Amino acid sequence: MRIAAIIGLGLVLSGCVGAIPEEDAALTFDRVKDSPPRLRAFLAMMPKGADLHIHLSGAAYAESNLAAGVAAGYCLDIATMRIVAPPCAKIPDSPPKTPCSLQKLGDKPPLEAVMAEQCLVDRAIDAQSLRNFVAAPGVNAHDQFFNSFAKFGDSRQPGLMLAEELNRAGRQQVRHIEVMATFGSQEIAKVAATLPATDGPEALLARLDQTDPAAFLAAAQSELDQTLAMARAQMGCDGSQPQPGCAVSLRFLQQITRTSALPTVAAQTWFGFQLAAADPRVGGINIVSPEDNFVALRDYGQHMSLIGTMADRFPQVGVSLHAGELAFGLVAPEQLRSHIRDAVLIGRAQRIGHGVDVMYEDDPYGLLDLLARQGVAVEINLTSNDLILGVRGADHPFAIYLEEGVPTTLSTDDEGVSRIDLTQEYLRAVLEHGLDYADLKALSRRGLEYAFLPGASLWADPVAWEPVAPCAEAEAPACGSFLAANEKARRQWELEQAFDAFEQAVSSQRR
Ligand SMILES: [Zn+2]
Repeated sequence: MRIAAIIGLGLVLSGCVGAIPEEDAALTFDRVKDSPPRLRAFLAMMPKGADLHIHLSGAAYAESNLAAGVAAGYCLDIATMRIVAPPCAKIPDSPPKTPCSLQKLGDKPPLEAVMAEQCLVDRAIDAQSLRNFVAAPGVNAHDQFFNSFAKFGDSRQPGLMLAEELNRAGRQQVRHIEVMATFGSQEIAKVAATLPATDGPEALLARLDQTDPAAFLAAAQSELDQTLAMARAQMGCDGSQPQPGCAVSLRFLQQITRTSALPTVAAQTWFGFQLAAADPRVGGINIVSPEDNFVALRDYGQHMSLIGTMADRFPQVGVSLHAGELAFGLVAPEQLRSHIRDAVLIGRAQRIGHGVDVMYEDDPYGLLDLLARQGVAVEINLTSNDLILGVRGADHPFAIYLEEGVPTTLSTDDEGVSRIDLTQEYLRAVLEHGLDYADLKALSRRGLEYAFLPGASLWADPVAWEPVAPCAEAEAPACGSFLAANEKARRQWELEQAFDAFEQAVSSQRR
């Protein structure tokens, strides 16, 4: 691209560089793409616009969960491999020096003692993730994945988990992340408990409209303050050596839990939109938990109705919905017919999480046209879909979305449970779907294009990547004012600067 110099913002003049280094970077990519280790190193350094689909709870690696448990004086329940609150079992003064001796205690040794027993550390990490998972009769990867969340315990600090995630993103050259989390859950639960179980969506929202959200907003924003303050402190963002996560921008998405009873889902939805409308740190909402759950399937239409009604009231709130995280055989075929379409047409989704079953929906090509026409982005989670749904390679619709002009982004979902990172997902996109450098650059740019960041985009055309008029030519003042007024465009500009630097660097590389 040719882009104006914004001297006033202190950004580096890129002028008319671009085309040659980009072509050279593509040649370097072609040289390394058949060697996964070389490709990994290339992709780790490649700027990535955003990871838009991250569950805070599943992003932390098991090692961090164990460290949090040790710090809090928690125990490990040997039977279930759950991290649990004290009191823990008493350790004998002189425990037998045989391997895994604590296991023989049979109940809840202190985690601190467990960490000296490698066999138990290994078992705990395996239990809290998909590491070393082997399916057995009655034990499948889908259940292992979702059951792992119950084993993390409540000793984890959201601020430390966030710092871990931001630093991991920063080290991989990810510019922006959107993180699903729940704030003010106790206040939501209090209100949900007052709602009748027999009401439908409209009646529930009418009751919620009589509620004053002030107590909830105060609690949620206090939790937000604490989480962000702890993350910034952990990363040393105000010190002389800020860690890589300090440079990553962030928005939260308030969660709605689709496996809950309808009054709870209604309260979560109502408060979620209120919070996102009131607090710029919350970019929007998302609906989470297994879509194939009985309650989630039964109430799907009511959930979309609740979300769509609130989205119409709060059009400024970003709506990203997990939809189509289903596979043939996992649910009855009838359940595959319309979740993605309903999420868009009824739930007003601006982004779809997963969209794996798209070709099983009624009129799939009509649906693909709808997604392309409305610019609904699909957040693709390749490893998660492989592990949870068993959908991978040519069975995954990623290539179809690309062929049909539906905007896609790559994301990690639950990188701690899957034991991946965003670079791994880019790697997988190359190895399994044959993407070239231009495809990867477009994926990276789309991460920011479809982020719930305020302001206008840098791109007049997010397919041909033509910049908006003020930044199309070397008229620095107009582009500088435009960037100053639009956070999204500013982040996109920074990504272009990072690509310029990356492409210059890899072009001069001999290997
Ligand atoms: Zn997800």
